[in-house]
Amino acid sequence: MLEIHEIPVTPFQQNCTLLVCSDSGAAAVCDCGDAEPVLARIADLGVDVKQIIATHGHLDHVGGTYALQQALKVPFWFPQGDAWLLAELAQQARMYGFAPITPPVPDGDLPIGVAVKIGNSSLEVRHCPGHTPGHIIFFDPADLQVVVGDVLFQGSIGRTDFPRGSLTDLTRSIQQQLYTLPAQTVVHCGHGPTTTIGHEAKHNPFVRAV
Ligand SMILES: [Zn+2]
Repeated sequence: MLEIHEIPVTPFQQNCTLLVCSDSGAAAVCDCGDAEPVLARIADLGVDVKQIIATHGHLDHVGGTYALQQALKVPFWFPQGDAWLLAELAQQARMYGFAPITPPVPDGDLPIGVAVKIGNSSLEVRHCPGHTPGHIIFFDPADLQVVVGDVLFQGSIGRTDFPRGSLTDLTRSIQQQLYTLPAQTVVHCGHGPTTTIGHEAKHNPFVRAV
């Protein structure tokens, strides 16, 4: 199965995830906002990271990716719909008082419908625009778990007041791409605790199932 380890990083307490195939030890890092704590956890677990992926292009989700790439020498796959955000990353780091960073250069796109292979496990890429236009999520249909970045949180939803955000798009993404997943699916959020699709579809005060 696919084990998902959450590693809170940056002053924004963004949940970077270390995705590990328990059969093979092959792993992927998703949303590396800061490399150092992630490298420490990789060493602790002794897993073999083969790739880096990201849900979207905000600083707290990709700010540590260049450093992680330099350390691990593995490819970085990124949704092209958010490429414009990578171009603004150094400026964002200055604005939020982060240490200077080098923007990562993706090795390729993560197109919708593609399967991200991690050892014997496989993640389905789904497009969930609204928080950012290129935002994607990663669904693990075998183990019923999903990594959603900043689309959905426990009792909340992603902000839509950033440039090119859209509440209409975000609502549609949640209703069509998330609330249609099995109710028991565990949701790993970009910030805060995990939740389930069933709980949010019923109780989320911002977006309910239709
Ligand atoms: Zn974000």
